[in-house]
Amino acid sequence: MQITPDTAVTLTYRITDSRTGKLLDSGTTAYLHGGYENLFPAVEAALEGQGVGGRVELTLSAAEAFGPRDEALVTTIPKSEFPPGVKVGGQLRGAGPDGAPQIYNVVKIKGPVVLLDGNHPLAGQDIRFAATVTEVRAASAEEIAHRHVHGGHGHHH
Ligand SMILES: [Zn+2]
Repeated sequence: MQITPDTAVTLTYRITDSRTGKLLDSGTTAYLHGGYENLFPAVEAALEGQGVGGRVELTLSAAEAFGPRDEALVTTIPKSEFPPGVKVGGQLRGAGPDGAPQIYNVVKIKGPVVLLDGNHPLAGQDIRFAATVTEVRAASAEEIAHRHVHGGHGHHH
């Protein structure tokens, strides 16, 4: 089966720094193909028409990948307001600068202050994205309605 709009695609991927080659992330993910904003548009375009075993490798600017960094999403809170059990490297739900819900990464705890960063860890980073297709199937009507893939490496809810 070929990758066409409304197919559920499983990929193994490696993300490296496009300048240094350093490995930044790797894993397996499933996405709904066809412009549902589950995956970078340039990668979707390169995968169109491929099947199991197909490979893509692209260099993506930060703007094409995880977006630019937004320094307005870097903030601090007093340690006294910090929920128990959350550690450096963990995440915290809060409100963004515009009041909308925002997930913050806990960057560090410095004395009485906790530094939070709502940017994706790879925001602002030019990357090389390499992926191999491991499964292609027709998406279910429910997956198309939800605009994402269910089960396996997709959404569980
Ligand atoms: Zn769903």
